[in-house]
Amino acid sequence: MYQQAFEAELKLAFNSAKEVNDVQLAAIEGKGMGVVAKDNIISGQLLISEGPLFALKMSYSSMWDDARESTISEILRLLSENNRNHFHQLHNSLETHEDYLNKSYFGKFMSNSLKMFEALDEYKTPERCNMSGILVHAARINHSCVPNAHFLWDPAARKGNVRALTAITKGEEVTIRYIRLEASPNRSVLLLNRYNIVRCTCPMCTVPADEIEETDRFLHHAREIEYRLADQEVLEATPQKTLNEAKMARDIFARNGGGAVERARVVFKCFEICAIQGDITRAKYFLEMALRHCLLAQGDASPNARCLRLLQADVTQYEGFGKANKWAGSMFNNMNYEQKDIPTWYWRMPPFEDFSRDF
Ligand SMILES: [Zn+2]
Repeated sequence: MYQQAFEAELKLAFNSAKEVNDVQLAAIEGKGMGVVAKDNIISGQLLISEGPLFALKMSYSSMWDDARESTISEILRLLSENNRNHFHQLHNSLETHEDYLNKSYFGKFMSNSLKMFEALDEYKTPERCNMSGILVHAARINHSCVPNAHFLWDPAARKGNVRALTAITKGEEVTIRYIRLEASPNRSVLLLNRYNIVRCTCPMCTVPADEIEETDRFLHHAREIEYRLADQEVLEATPQKTLNEAKMARDIFARNGGGAVERARVVFKCFEICAIQGDITRAKYFLEMALRHCLLAQGDASPNARCLRLLQADVTQYEGFGKANKWAGSMFNNMNYEQKDIPTWYWRMPPFEDFSRDF
């Protein structure tokens, strides 16, 4: 059993192709080392693309398994000296954390590993979320709750990619988000416990405490909505209610630091709701929007982007397309409105062209 897990972990170590564009390691005031832009960077640009040194399965049951320390020690012995040094050079932010005393390798792993999964419907597929890996360049990037870059694992290429979510000016620090924005009712506690970040210095954490609390409350509400929307039966049975809820989650993300990642997820949910009801016009509208966010955060070659493009060619290929018909005969019938009317009708916002810049 142990041997099997060990072999599975090692197999992931073998994509050594590496690409580092326009970024470099630098000392960051108050944060130790970090990654900064060497040049002006445009949104969507690929900054880092690399395979992991190694990866571990991260189920809850194995999380505190004492064997983890010795597993990593074994893996390190099998790595090249160069790669081993890469690992040793990483910072262990959990050195003094009581859960990691006498587990310096595991502490270093937990401080620096990145989750190797990405799905548009994460809430439905938690079993995908169980590998974490050490990617030596991406691991150097510091956290921000409102990051300017995003890390994504590409399972087909077995590489992790970091992409700019916004334009980044020369000399500016590149940041990614270590936790899910909506992950905890208390962001600062989670950052402290999980990464020993005593005080996050991002714009969302440098406001009065009651504002932070309010933001966290809203984000947690968005998380609860996303949990509900992960249930296909709920989408089938109550399309209008779930569409409204998805809009609420979208608004919460838009006002509380959510970027292309969260928006792609929520808008894809809107697509699913409409596709299930056989509403081609609105399904297409939301799909195009989801694809735009997805391309920004994940790039053209990502599995999610490929999947969305296939659906774009023919939305009826969606697995549950037309499965329910709650909207049959209503004003949502496809013949009764045109694509350009959708934003005005549903989002009560300016027409597509203006509105699409914001969403
Ligand atoms: Zn923060």
